[in-house]
Amino acid sequence: MVDLYGQYLSVKDEIDAAMGEVMRDCSFVRGPQTALLEEELAAWTGVGHCVTCGSGTDALLLAMTAIGVGSGDEVIVPAFTFGAVAETVAMRGATPVFADVDPLTFNIDSSSVERLISGRTRAVVAVHMFGQPCDMPPLFELARRHGFVVVEDNAQSLGARCRSESGAMARAGSVGLIGCTSFFPTKVLGCYGDGGAVMTDDGELAQRIRMIANHGQSPKYNYLTVGINSRLDTLQAAVLRVKLRHLHDWIEARRAAAERYDAALKGVAGVECPVRAGGVTHVYHQYTLRVDPSLRDGLRAFLADRGIESMVYYPSLLNDQEAYRDISRCDGDMRGARRLPASVLSLPICSHIGVAAQARVMAAVKEYFGVAEAL
Ligand SMILES: *Cc1c(COP(=O)(O)O)cnc(C)c1O
Repeated sequence: MVDLYGQYLSVKDEIDAAMGEVMRDCSFVRGPQTALLEEELAAWTGVGHCVTCGSGTDALLLAMTAIGVGSGDEVIVPAFTFGAVAETVAMRGATPVFADVDPLTFNIDSSSVERLISGRTRAVVAVHMFGQPCDMPPLFELARRHGFVVVEDNAQSLGARCRSESGAMARAGSVGLIGCTSFFPTKVLGCYGDGGAVMTDDGELAQRIRMIANHGQSPKYNYLTVGINSRLDTLQAAVLRVKLRHLHDWIEARRAAAERYDAALKGVAGVECPVRAGGVTHVYHQYTLRVDPSLRDGLRAFLADRGIESMVYYPSLLNDQEAYRDISRCDGDMRGARRLPASVLSLPICSHIGVAAQARVMAAVKEYFGVAEAL
């Protein structure tokens, strides 16, 4: 799905030098590169503060902890997404409340959010799916009216833009009270292991998050609150600093690849290409087709026979999962999300996808649907 080795080779000298520097210093945890990365990421995203941590899941857990989500509280999250979002709410002892999503953008549906609001709602997590941010203004409006906060899960959409509370365009991850992101290797900005970060404009909140991520201690061995150990190690920070310098170009390469897919696959009966919503920009973490459900698994097998990987993100809704059956609540009307697990298919896309490799994918998809190549 993702040519991580090709990407590494394209910046090998820079990465090797940056890692070599960490090896010379042996400052593997809380080295100077971590603080520098936090400054650079904050500036790149347009937020006052960035706190790095151990993973995107930890970023969400830190956010939930820092805003005081706990037993008796409810947090509204989309039903069609990665499980970490519900998991971190449940780990705090709070109730995940599953909202429907827009079947065209895959993002949380604000009218469903509105139906789910209760006196116990503490937050909504806007998960920016597959590289395209949510429509934020309706969520800010609901949050203001009902007194809860908006947290962004920006694990898939670092670099995309959306509307802020004032209506101005801003980077995804900078518009909610807290933005969470992941540096898992296959994300738009990925390191060579696990990593994550929390972004916020609120200096006090940033300090609190930093303290919780470091065992709740301040100063050392003085435990003010119950915390965890969640740190981004210095080697990962050094890698990410190199990659951040190339991120703009790599996002442009993803967009160019998405345009090639669009051009080849638009109009092929049985598939619908990703929709570009108004008021946001897309970074194509995934290029996700919607396929006629009776043909989806056949297409996947057809591609696999030709050595082409594709993935189903995600094969079921979170409200249908065993883990959440008895500890969650959900919208009774899931008309947007219901059909997605049976119809989505993500094609290979990354910053270093080869034009020839992509042409093979497109030809195979067209062949499956019985469309002759134009040339
Ligand atoms: C990847 C991802 C996460 C979790 O990130 P990890 O770094 O793997 O813990 C959370 N939310 C979404 C939407 C993701 O895609």
